Amino acid sequence: MSQRRYQARRSGDRVMADGLAGAADEAAAPLLASDEPPVVDLQDSAGGPFVFLCEHASNRLPKALGDLGLPAEALTRHIAWDPGAAAMTLGLAARLGGPAILQSYSRLVIDCNREPGLPDAITTLSEDTAIPGNQDLGPDARQQRVDAIWAPFHAAIDELVEARIAAGKPSVIVTLHSFTSVYRGVSRPWHVGIISSGERSFAEAMLSALRRDPALVVGDDEPYSARDNVDYTIRRHGFDRGLPHVMIEVRNDLVESATDVAAWVERLGDALLESAAALGLSPAQED
Ligand SMILES: [Zn+2]
Repeated sequence: MSQRRYQARRSGDRVMADGLAGAADEAAAPLLASDEPPVVDLQDSAGGPFVFLCEHASNRLPKALGDLGLPAEALTRHIAWDPGAAAMTLGLAARLGGPAILQSYSRLVIDCNREPGLPDAITTLSEDTAIPGNQDLGPDARQQRVDAIWAPFHAAIDELVEARIAAGKPSVIVTLHSFTSVYRGVSRPWHVGIISSGERSFAEAMLSALRRDPALVVGDDEPYSARDNVDYTIRRHGFDRGLPHVMIEVRNDLVESATDVAAWVERLGDALLESAAALGLSPAQED
C-alpha cells in the first residue's frame, strides 16, 4: 500500500498528495480541502444544563490521507469510529436541549479523546489491525493532524463552555461513545459503562439511575477508565473546570438500528435528567 496517487484539485494547477501521509512535502499541504466538512459539527440549541460531545462520531478520512492503506471493510468497524454514538448524541441534544459538538473525522486520523503526545493518539495498531498510513509519521505530519483536527475541536468546546460559564449557565459535560462487544477475543458483559475523571458525583448519580433497571448490566469505569487514558475530554472540559461530567459508553451492538438508538436516548435521557436534579442542576433552564 505504499503506492502514492496524485489527484489534481479543482483549482486546476494545484496538485496535492492523495496517498499515504508521512513525507515531508505532504505535511506542508493542507490536511483538509476547502470542500471537505469542517472538523467541528456544532448543533447549538438552547436548553438544559447539558453539553453533549462526541469525539468518535465519524469514520470519514480527509481526502489527503486516501484510505490510510486500509480496506473499506476496516473503515466501517469500530477501529475507525464509534458506531451509534453520533445518533445518540444528536438524539439526546434534541430530547433534552443543549448544544452538541461532534468531530467530523475518524479517530484513525487523530484521537480527540487522547493527549496528542500519547503514542495511541495517532494509532499505528488498532486492536489487531495495523494502520499503514500512520506508520513512521514525522513530527510535521503529526503536528498537522493536531493543528487541523484535534486543536480546533477542543478550542470549539473551550469557547462554548467558557461562554456558558460567563453567562452563568450550569454545564454538565456529557460525552457519548460506543464500544465493541468483543475485544481481543473477550466478550464484554456490560450494556453500558459510566466513566468519570477525578470526581465521581455525576457518574455515581448516573450509576444509581441506570442500575434500577435489573435487566441492564452497568459498568462502573468499564470497559475503560481514566487509568487507560480515555478521559481526556471529560478531564479537560469537565474536571479541570470543576464541572460535573460523565463519559457514557454503550455497547455498539445495542445501537445498530434507529429504534435501538431511540430506546437508549430515552433511557440515558431519563438518567441524565434524574442525575442533574439530584445534583441540584436545573434540567429546564432556558436562555
Ligand atoms: Zn469512543
